[in-house]
Amino acid sequence: MNDQKIADAVAKVLSGFGGTNTTPVSDAPKVNNSPTSAAPGNMVSDILAKIMSETGKTSPSSDAQNEYVPSPTKCGWERSKSSESPNDIMVTDIVAKLLAEKHGGRVSDCSAPVGCPYKASDAITVAEGEMTTLGDGVFASMDEAVNAAELAQRQYQFCSMQARQQFIDGIREVTLVQDNLERISRMGAEQTGMGNYEHKLIKNRIAAEKTPGIEDLTTEAQSGDNGLTLVEYSAFGVIGAITPTTNPTETIICNSIGMLAAGNAVVFSPHPRATEVSLLMIKLINRKLATLGAPANLVVTVQTPSIDNTNAMMAHPKVRMLVATGGPGIVKTVMSTGKKAIGAGAGNPPVVVDETADIEKAAQDIVNGASFDNNLPCIAEKEIIAVDQIADYLISCMKKCGAYLVSDPAVITKLEKLVINTKGTPETSCVGKSAVYLLDKVGITVDASVKIILIDLPKDHPFVQEELMMPILPLVRVQTVDEAIDLAVEVEHGNRHTAIMHSTNVRKLTKMAKLIQTTIFVKNGPSYAGIGVGGEGYTTFTIAGPTGEGLTSPKSFARRRKCVMVEALNVR
Ligand code: NAD
Repeated sequence: MNDQKIADAVAKVLSGFGGTNTTPVSDAPKVNNSPTSAAPGNMVSDILAKIMSETGKTSPSSDAQNEYVPSPTKCGWERSKSSESPNDIMVTDIVAKLLAEKHGGRVSDCSAPVGCPYKASDAITVAEGEMTTLGDGVFASMDEAVNAAELAQRQYQFCSMQARQQFIDGIREVTLVQDNLERISRMGAEQTGMGNYEHKLIKNRIAAEKTPGIEDLTTEAQSGDNGLTLVEYSAFGVIGAITPTTNPTETIICNSIGMLAAGNAVVFSPHPRATEVSLLMIKLINRKLATLGAPANLVVTVQTPSIDNTNAMMAHPKVRMLVATGGPGIVKTVMSTGKKAIGAGAGNPPVVVDETADIEKAAQDIVNGASFDNNLPCIAEKEIIAVDQIADYLISCMKKCGAYLVSDPAVITKLEKLVINTKGTPETSCVGKSAVYLLDKVGITVDASVKIILIDLPKDHPFVQEELMMPILPLVRVQTVDEAIDLAVEVEHGNRHTAIMHSTNVRKLTKMAKLIQTTIFVKNGPSYAGIGVGGEGYTTFTIAGPTGEGLTSPKSFARRRKCVMVEALNVR
């Protein structure tokens, strides 16, 4: 920033204070704008004095310095005490920039970290003992976390798009460091007791590699006799993101990329059962962003995630948007807050197999999809609906691919008692467990080649109706493909989430896609192709059926704003 730019920025701020002063600072006699004669220190003092006198402050230098200081331990800047009014907040922002000039930092273009303890070339890691300590985006209270994120976001607005791109690349990079990828994947499985390490490696990797970045924010332009109008995607501000146990780090990676790409800061509310791995991921991101000169605290959370803290986050006036990735309860809660809410809720994806399908391939795809991360993903096949004519052959093919067929009614009853609780919902301790583990619990020992438990059941069985999130796959027989489609629509329960169909009849594939209305519809492949594993297209771990955004991406976390230049810039 040169002197003229500083002076103009101050003038802009002052002219916004209810018209108290519309005189540009560059015209004010006290400020020397000559680049050759300006002494930076004096100029900063002059401008501070001007700001303070315009806003009724009496002690410019001490007050300003106390409010906004370079952080001694972290990169960027932090406020040492809270401001009282919006005017104060605007003043402290501009003061931050002026002080940055004075201290040799370049907050405005976010390209030079000030006092950062980490170097870009350092291998970013977090020691065992540091995982849940305060710092690097982890705060003692939700109020502190939100305030820090709000401050970061206001600084972030002044970063260039190039800097934003670098920060997004940094999040991808730090996740893809092999040690980090393995650590978060192992911890995710161990801490939650759900899913498996190898598949979490894949999920974390695609979240880092295939979540869209700033390229998603396309600008629309209309020009004509009246000038030029731009419609652009602009930040919401601070977003509160609630994350699930089933994809703890995947959701943090995906949401951080998408939300920061759109210019926001994000406060995470992780599931308490995934605390350590979630805090680790947030710290890794913060440390990486620090090396890149990002404003401190763009991605934050609390040291002890809890329902109370989530409630405090949802109610916090500085949180402008809520994004819940989880079950129906939390989705309903965010939708009833009165704030802009994105709800990515439960699914119960049916997979239809008709008589025209390649049955051997369908069998392999279904076993692969339904056993992925022990059936935890919301997109995973949860029940098969098969045309009777091919059902027996499908079962025999699936058995060759790692399905264990349970036909004994006594074993089925034992499994029901094991995995369905007294409320009629899935027993948490069985969610995300392997087929080997579940079979062992009912007295059947099998080797690790068994991936799923297959059971021929009527449509009203709870295994068909409930989203189990474990590798128990019911198969329901129907007479025709049309009946199969109708039943698929019924058991999907209007979640608008995911459905899969194996068929070579394009008319029936089209019919099912139209009737079921899911966000993701996979044809002739495993369900995970729908999130970009072996399928074309980008990845998201926040699939918003209930609120209609569907496959979320940076656009979903932005507002469409219009800039109108009247009677100019049309060059046609
Ligand atoms: P969950 O609903 O139990 O928890 C999700 C999050 O909400 C957690 O952070 C939890 O702490 C919080 N939460 C839950 N109830 C709350 C309450 N009353 N007050 C405050 N916070 C509350 O879900 P889960 O078991 O962690 O995840 C599995 C569910 O999430 C499944 O239903 C799955 O389909 C769904 N899911 C959906 C998507 C999607 O993109 N649509 C992605 C992953 C998971």
